Parts: sequence; structure tokens; C-alpha cells
Amino acid sequence: MIKAIYPGSFDPITNGHLDIIHRASKIFNRIVVVVAENSRKKSLFSIEEKVNMIQNVIAELKNVEVQSFRGLLIDCARSNHANIILRGMRAISDFEYESQFALMNKKMAPEIETVFMVTSTRFSYLNSSIVKEVASLNGCIGELVPPFVEKMLKTKYGYS
Ligand code: ADP
Repeated sequence: MIKAIYPGSFDPITNGHLDIIHRASKIFNRIVVVVAENSRKKSLFSIEEKVNMIQNVIAELKNVEVQSFRGLLIDCARSNHANIILRGMRAISDFEYESQFALMNKKMAPEIETVFMVTSTRFSYLNSSIVKEVASLNGCIGELVPPFVEKMLKTKYGYS
């Protein structure tokens, strides 16, 4: 049984995240998308809103679930009996932070492996911040996020 956790801020989930989840769901037996509660990062959406959006967009993927977590990621992996931490890799600029994060987790929990999936080219420029920036100015985000998330963003910024 290969079970992975896929952690992140997901503020909000984008088509880039979803692409990774879809591809990973064919490789791993189970995936838990983990919305990390991070008090140092200011979020547009609440934890409940983020979990709700993810639940909505992964509904058809039977081996994927979502939960929120506060604390050390390795503790989250252990309590889920997951042996993999899955991360997406967009550009070389992601590498430094991601490798440091993976090495620290490896030091604390040698039994857990970090696995990176390289983004699909069409989503390599995409992140939650740029989506929020465009949405806040009423730009078109239809190709960047699922329709449910687009609706949530429009409501948040008062455009619907
Ligand atoms: P964090 O705040 O930890 O960076 P994010 O919510 O931004 O969390 O992203 C969660 C994970 O998804 C990270 O591994 C990140 O590299 C990956 N990711 C984000 N955007 C994309 C994308 N467009 N394509 C592939 N992976 C992505």
C-alpha cells in the first residue's frame, strides 16, 4: 500500500495542483491532500473554505481525500500511515526550498520519502498568488482554476 500526503496552502487550489493530484492518483494507492494551517502565512480563504473547495473538485477521484493539519508534516504523514510526501516542482526556483524541506523531513523521519512530480508545461507559471492577483482585478481565471473555485474567488472579491 503506497499512501501519499500532498501538503500545501491551497489558497486556493488551482488547475496546477489538480493536475498533480490526477496524475498521482494513478501512481499511489491513496492520496491525502493536506491543507496546512500556517499562522505565518496570511490566507484569503479559511481552512474550512479551502477544504470545501478541494472536496468539491476531487469528488470523482475515489482514492483521494482531504484534511487539514496543524503541526509537523511528518507527524501528519505518520498519523495517516503515509510513507510518501508528494510535492509539485514547477521551476528550478522551487528546487532550493523544496530540497531543504525534503532533507529536513528525511532527517526527522527517515522512513518517509519525499517524491517530486514535475508540473505539466501548461501549468508551470501557475500559482495561487497569481490567480488571486488576476481574480482581484476581475481578470479571466477560467483556465486557471476549476469552475467552483472561480465562483468562490468571484464572490470573495465581490464580482458576483
Ligand atoms: P506551499 O504554500 O507549500 O508552496 P502551495 O499550495 O503553493 O503550497 O502548493 C502545494 C504544492 O503544490 C507544492 O508542492 C507546490 O510546489 C505544488 N504546486 C503549486 N502550484 C503548482 C503548479 N502550477 N503545478 C504543479 N505543482 C504545483
